[in-house]
Amino acid sequence: MSVRENIINFKSQLPESVKLVAVSKTKPNNLVMEAYDAGQRIFGENKVQDLAAKQPELPVDIKWHFIGHLQRNKVKFIAEFVDTIHAVDSLKLLKEINKQAVNNNRTINCLLQFHIAEEESKFGLNMQEAEELLKSDDFKALQNINISGVMGMATYTDNTEQVKKEFSNLKTYFNKLKSTYFSQQTAFVEISMGMSGDYKLAIEEGSTMIRIGSSIFGARI
Ligand SMILES: *Cc1c(COP(=O)(O)O)cnc(C)c1O
Repeated sequence: MSVRENIINFKSQLPESVKLVAVSKTKPNNLVMEAYDAGQRIFGENKVQDLAAKQPELPVDIKWHFIGHLQRNKVKFIAEFVDTIHAVDSLKLLKEINKQAVNNNRTINCLLQFHIAEEESKFGLNMQEAEELLKSDDFKALQNINISGVMGMATYTDNTEQVKKEFSNLKTYFNKLKSTYFSQQTAFVEISMGMSGDYKLAIEEGSTMIRIGSSIFGARI
């Protein structure tokens, strides 16, 4: 199926509460435009260099989400336009995002990344680290970031029970943070979980934002 058909398909099957991030990493601008012309407006990239190169060549009303691991020294290359940064897992990174947001006179949405998978290699906070971050005075002083929710990646496995459990853990973390730290903040709403292989399970477990690459744009080579 074409990119256009894939976008239309996804949009028709997703509950209204679930946002679609079309992950265009490694894919050329003409395919991004095909998705755009089918009505898609949120796109995800995981490399700063690629995102910084694509953004000026594509429509300004695209909401760019950075979904990869972000190095502090590269925040400045995307701070002028990035809508949401998904994988924030340290106070140091948040401070740098805030600093660059201030420089650009804007607010950047951030999701706290939790480590929910079994795999060692994946980044992310545990609950204790997240709470330490949120309780700190340094965090409270940051004025130009908006913590809009949480993000996580499940283990890459066929074991659906395990994947469900990991997504359900992320939802539990979200609920706990919401009631303890964000009860007055209507902007803390997103649970970014689910990719091409596991988005259905993620939605069952309460995802509000799925990040879909290959099921829209085809396999990456
Ligand atoms: C690549 C990527 C995706 C999309 O993966 P697909 O399996 O192609 O849907 C989602 N989230 C992150 C963080 C990614 O790096």
